[in-house]
Amino acid sequence: MKKFLLIILCCFLIIIENYKNASSLSYKRHDLIIKKAISMLKNLEKDKSWTIAGYSNWKNKILLKEYGNRGKNILIIGGIHGDEPASVTSAIYLAKYLEKNSASIKNRVIIVPCLNPDGLRAGRRTNGHKIDLNRNFPSSTWEFDYTKHYNNPGPLPASEPETVVAIEIMDKYQPVMIIQLHQPFAALYPDSKAPNDLIEKMSDISGFSISFDIGYKTPGSLGSFKSDQEYSIIGITYELGRIDREPDYNKVILSLLEAINYDYN
Ligand SMILES: [Zn+2]
Repeated sequence: MKKFLLIILCCFLIIIENYKNASSLSYKRHDLIIKKAISMLKNLEKDKSWTIAGYSNWKNKILLKEYGNRGKNILIIGGIHGDEPASVTSAIYLAKYLEKNSASIKNRVIIVPCLNPDGLRAGRRTNGHKIDLNRNFPSSTWEFDYTKHYNNPGPLPASEPETVVAIEIMDKYQPVMIIQLHQPFAALYPDSKAPNDLIEKMSDISGFSISFDIGYKTPGSLGSFKSDQEYSIIGITYELGRIDREPDYNKVILSLLEAINYDYN
């Protein structure tokens, strides 16, 4: 009996040790991608062709750049959550592609690679005030008491400078389509107005599935705010894969190009 218990204990310790090793490896991988995203963002800050749309709580720059000069406006936002670094790198790789190819695109694209630069630098979901920007938008669904610490909605709707910057960008450009990049669900979440043919193509190219329900409430989210607007905006929440992995950037760019070149008339 003693021998049996000893074997069980050893197996248990081996499982715990493996789990600890796997999670520390995952943590290191995630940390490396965050560092890469910060470094890429710093390079953009030195590039004068990028506009400063505003500043975060910690006075980090929120950058923006337009590509193309015809058609409707498409807004692509990365880094709403600071612990989703591939949402930032994907937006920057798309921008790099468009530097050379903007003459051929059918709609104008506005790229905000990182709405939450404080969160990215801190390696956490929330902003410099520990508020979840995607619960801080002044939508009809905003809830003061929605207070899981990582989903802190803030003391008031749009209390955060980053949220205000996003609203100003939406007001200025009145986009027909907003794509927000997130992680880690490896799925596309289109709203009801999103054209099926477009979503299916984007899913085919990216390899990400299509889903219509994220499975939990998102009061005060950018998506719910967008849906409240008088002008019609189509929205896609583009969830890249796990946070400790980088996606196939070529597939991500090609799938986003489908949305950029879509005929919205
Ligand atoms: Zn997110």
